[in-house]
Amino acid sequence: MKTKIYQLDEKNLDIQAIKEAAEIIRSNGTVVFPTETVYGLGANALSPDAAKAIFAAKGRPSDNPLIAHISCIDMLLYVIGEPLSDKAKKLMNVFWPGPLTLIFKKSSAIPDEVTAGLDTVAVRMPDNAIALELIKQSGLPIAAPSANISGKPSPTKGEHVIGDLDGKVDAIICGSSSRVGLESTVLDLSGAIPTILRPGGITLEELQAVLGEVHIDKGLVDKSTTPKAPGMKYTHYAPEAKMILVKGELQKVVAKIQQLAAEQKAQGKLVGILATEETKKDYQADVVLTMGSRSDLYTAAASIFDALRQFDKQKVDIIYAEAISEESIGMAVMNRLNKAAGFNIIEV
Ligand code: AMP
Ligand code: MG
Repeated sequence: MKTKIYQLDEKNLDIQAIKEAAEIIRSNGTVVFPTETVYGLGANALSPDAAKAIFAAKGRPSDNPLIAHISCIDMLLYVIGEPLSDKAKKLMNVFWPGPLTLIFKKSSAIPDEVTAGLDTVAVRMPDNAIALELIKQSGLPIAAPSANISGKPSPTKGEHVIGDLDGKVDAIICGSSSRVGLESTVLDLSGAIPTILRPGGITLEELQAVLGEVHIDKGLVDKSTTPKAPGMKYTHYAPEAKMILVKGELQKVVAKIQQLAAEQKAQGKLVGILATEETKKDYQADVVLTMGSRSDLYTAAASIFDALRQFDKQKVDIIYAEAISEESIGMAVMNRLNKAAGFNIIEV
């Protein structure tokens, strides 16, 4: 398939180009577009065939439901099959447009292919002018998972998407790097206490400030419980090389990584280290990348996926990564790092 590639500027929208891309959505094609979280692989959320095309392009397991992206409240009301609760209204007021996905009962307008057979639908309003204009111009909710080949790190730059999906989708809209850099928080409001099904761009602490008590799905912390978000059971975000996450007191972590890296080097391996600004000077390895600063974990969120892809590019044989604090946005970063490492963890 020949993929049409657009380079667009969020601050100076090329409406004509977006109208062209919207026409592709309207004819049930696939369009990759930038969002503030990661790039999304979008198609008409009201069409079973369009949804199937998303799964095919990514190689995504068909039991992993998609998020419907909307640009206005009328569109939300069209895709959900329940009245808006006070909690949902409050959250939408504070966090939309933004990296928060809410789960609702689905309306009959949403086909089973989008929700993987569930009777609920995940919805969010993205905080990106290109994404919002594309949805508005197509006049349709757009189902969109992250625009990577299934299992790989999510794309936060146009070049990541082109590497993964050129030739597999109808169009790719490249914009700037994703501001948040990891996926939305998925929140279930169906129980008495709101529950995070996937940690993401909106933190537990931010949700607690609006809602009071908020739980975290047991399936995220206890491996014997099945996660409520089907996607959370899969290994994800994995770089090509084996990755090992080292957790513990920072000085010990650095010493352990130095020792392991030296051992691998002695065996002739190309070693990658995912460090932080505070520690990168302490390492000697073939490829030392920093995920950002420990004093501002949002910088880590914004750069981890790009760092994982850089290790792939440099063809390292093994990656050692430092664990960071699980507070605030650190919870979502650590969720992605744990998965990228396939839960290969050394505690020191
Ligand atoms: P992605 O498309 O990669 O951002 O992943 C979307 C996430 O939302 C996956 O973990 C899905 O399993 C989850 N999700 C989507 N729809 C639902 C739903 N109706 N109920 C629970 N989780 C969902
Ligand atoms: Mg994904």
